[in-house]
This record gives sequence, C-alpha cells and structure tokens, in this order.
Amino acid sequence: MLVNMNEVLLPAKRDQYAVGLFNAVNLELARGIINAAETMQSPVIMGTAEVLLPYGPLEEVSYYLIPMAKKARVPVVIHLDHGLNYDTCIRALKLGFSSVMYDCSIDPYEENIRKVKEMADIAHSYGATIEGELGHVGDNEGSAEGSSCLTDPSQYYTDPERARDYVKRTGVDALAIAVGNAHGAYKLPPKLDFKRIRTIARTVDVPLVLHGGSGLTDQDFKQAIREGISKVNIFTDINVAAVKAELEKFTDMNKGIIDLIPAAVEAVKQESIKKIQLFGSDGRAGREPAFGSLSASDLEKLTQLVAAEVAKYLKGNS
Ligand SMILES: [Zn+2]
Repeated sequence: MLVNMNEVLLPAKRDQYAVGLFNAVNLELARGIINAAETMQSPVIMGTAEVLLPYGPLEEVSYYLIPMAKKARVPVVIHLDHGLNYDTCIRALKLGFSSVMYDCSIDPYEENIRKVKEMADIAHSYGATIEGELGHVGDNEGSAEGSSCLTDPSQYYTDPERARDYVKRTGVDALAIAVGNAHGAYKLPPKLDFKRIRTIARTVDVPLVLHGGSGLTDQDFKQAIREGISKVNIFTDINVAAVKAELEKFTDMNKGIIDLIPAAVEAVKQESIKKIQLFGSDGRAGREPAFGSLSASDLEKLTQLVAAEVAKYLKGNS
C-alpha cells in the first residue's frame, strides 16, 4: 500500500529500528526492492532523486513506482530524494509521490527555513510528508548523487540546537543530518559522530535520516540506529550489485537484455534484504495498531473524549 513517511518512520523511531530508502531509477531496481520488502515483511521507502532524473525522468518513474507501491503487500513510501528545485518537488507531489525531500542545505540558514516551511505546507496539503536537511552532507568523489566534495566536512555537521529551531519553524516530518556521512563510495572508512546523533535525537522530536549509507560497516549502521537514526538512504550498494550480477551473467556476445534483467532484479533483492535485516525493519509491516503513532497521553485523552460522548448519548436516551 502507498503510505507517507510518518506512517513508517514514527513506529521506527518509537521502536528503534530504521527504514531504508532505496532509489529505483529503473524497473529492475524497483522490482528488486519491492520483492525484498514483501519477502521480509518490511515497510520500505522507494524513489528517485533530482540528480538521478537524467537516468529516468520523474514522470516515467512515477508511472511504475506509484502503482507498484499501491499494489504492494507492505507499506511503501514513494519519495523524491534531494529535491533541489521548487518545481521538481511540486511536480513530484502532483504525480502522486507521498513524500518529498526539499534540500536547501546549501542555502543560508534563514533561507533554508523559509523555503522548506513553504514546501512543508504544500506537501502537507497533499497528505504527503517532507524531509529537510540541516548542515550539509557532502559527496564522495565520483558519487552519482552530486559532486560537492567538502574539504572539511565537520564544518558542516548539524548543530543540535539549530536542529530544534529548524524543525519547529519548518514543520518538517523528518530531518537529514550531517554527522560524518557522505554520498557515494567512501575512499577511506568514514567516522560517524555518534554522540552528535544521540544529542540531536534527544533535541528534536522528528525521525532522523542518515544519507550516504553505502559503505558504512554493519556496526556503524547498528550504532547509528541505536543512537536515533530512523531512515537510512541506500543507493550505491544496490546500484553496484545490479551491474555486478549482469556482468557475471554476460558470458558471451549472444546474451541479450532479457538474460540480464532477472539477474539484476535478484541481486537488488538480495542486497536490499541484507539492508532490511541490518536496519531491523523486517517483520515490521502491518503490525501497527490503529493508534500506533499516538503517544500514551494522547490516547488517554482520546479515550476520555469518547467516554464523555458515550455518557452524553446514554443520558440523552435514558
Ligand atoms: Zn542524500
């Protein structure tokens, strides 16, 4: 079923696991990801990013992503990752994406807030969710997702107090943070600032997002999730897995595309399954009670309201 990000990330935040965002710029990727999520009974976030649009235009991608999400037996969010322009985000919402990221992280702070707040109001009017980014996640050399190689990434790490202010003023549903992570394949093993993740998680009340997940160790992921990450973005690992499988299958010049497609789908599926298990979202599809995202005190208030209404009704009928 097609859902927005709150429906999968609020339970993840509460129960300390993470849901993966896997970019699906073609049908092999999308089929592999959905297959993995259904096999593992896991919620999943699928989509594309503005910098990936040359490989699959937004509209064409939406033609398969949204029906596939609706038909899936697990909750699927269709998300625009790193929307860089206002118009791209609006187009995604109009096409039926259930979530967008509006990345204004290289704008000055107040400008980032102003633009993202405006988009948050629009996204919410569509029943969609929105992710913002504070601090700036850079790119490793050769990353498909961008070419902002930062000389000193720690200068762009997310500040916890600013994060609190940012979330409050923009109304974002999820926040991408910069804590030593980068897009693409890492040349040197990354060092995540776990203490910063923990502090931000205690300071803001929306789920936190870790970009640039490909290349982190299993240990890194587990600790990042323990400290408060609820969404992890993965692209490089599934992208590479698909091509490796196709190369292995391409044993002679008589092989055609239909020999390679099933191999790519299977490789994406297996790689996605590994990540789903690592993030702990396996078995989490469809087990949410109806009021799963309400706090205990909200639930208590709701119960009292219902009880009062029932009492009024009974009085009127006696
Ligand atoms: Zn990213």
